[in-house]
Amino acid sequence: MTKPPLTLYLAAPRGFCAGVDRAIKIVEMALEKWGAPVYVRHEIVHNKFVVDGLRAKGAVFVEELEDCPEDRPVIFSAHGVPKAVPAAAARRQMVYVDATCPLVSKVHIEAQRHSDNGLQMIMIGHAGHPETIGTMGQLPEGEVLLVETPADVAHVEVRDPEKLAYVTQTTLSIDDTAEIVAALRARFPAIVGPHKEDICYATTNRQEAVKAMAQKCDALLVVGAPNSSNSRRLVEVGAKNGCRYSQLVQRAENIDWRALDGISSVGITAGASAPEVLVNEVIDAFRARYDVTIETVETAVENVEFKVPRVLREPA
Ligand code: SF4
Repeated sequence: MTKPPLTLYLAAPRGFCAGVDRAIKIVEMALEKWGAPVYVRHEIVHNKFVVDGLRAKGAVFVEELEDCPEDRPVIFSAHGVPKAVPAAAARRQMVYVDATCPLVSKVHIEAQRHSDNGLQMIMIGHAGHPETIGTMGQLPEGEVLLVETPADVAHVEVRDPEKLAYVTQTTLSIDDTAEIVAALRARFPAIVGPHKEDICYATTNRQEAVKAMAQKCDALLVVGAPNSSNSRRLVEVGAKNGCRYSQLVQRAENIDWRALDGISSVGITAGASAPEVLVNEVIDAFRARYDVTIETVETAVENVEFKVPRVLREPA
């Protein structure tokens, strides 16, 4: 039987960012340096395939520092941690390595600097996401106010509207965040913010690539995990920019082929924590059913790389 033709638009850039790459390397190097088990507080990056792979090599994933024994090293995930976490590890004299993405650490420093300058902090982010918890945890409890939507801005109660600053989660939707920032500026004209939102280069580039292809795709599949903020934002960006079927898939086995019946083009991208091997798996699944022509939609070239911390670079 001849296969129906399908144009497959492949987003570039897609998949792993420099912060995820560094965090995974840190766990692998820790396992080499200290042997198994190495403890990791929270999923090192939000991807089951990556986490399962590291678990098989001897990493043990826990949610709280209290679940780690004192005599084994512990690594903090790429999303960042409240200040109380490394402080507790130091008190227990544990060996710890902070795999927080440097771009998240930059936001932590910004929040502290604004607070030191007497400004009250507002964070634009998603309640309960580990990055939001980590950034808010750079200052004493109750010091950082969280807003998630433009509607939240109307209700936020501040100490002094003249002394305010904001930071954002790094993995938000660029367009949704711009609306929240506009609402903040309208209500608090004196508010201080970053020159550009704290949304990172990887989130920005992946969203731009999706925007460039959303209208020409009958369907868009984002390879990523349901708890990956930047992956979920890519699904939303696809839908908002004109793609009528925009879905998250963890693996090829999650593709709903019935929903794709009759399509002649599909866009594929991957969140910043999704490995390329899963993208290839999805492409192969399409090749098995369609006569595929691949077109790359490239909107940026990335060459960002972050160094691993010194404690792991030194000889054991
Ligand atoms: S998505 Fe951005 S902030 Fe998050 S780990 Fe990657 S580079 Fe860092």
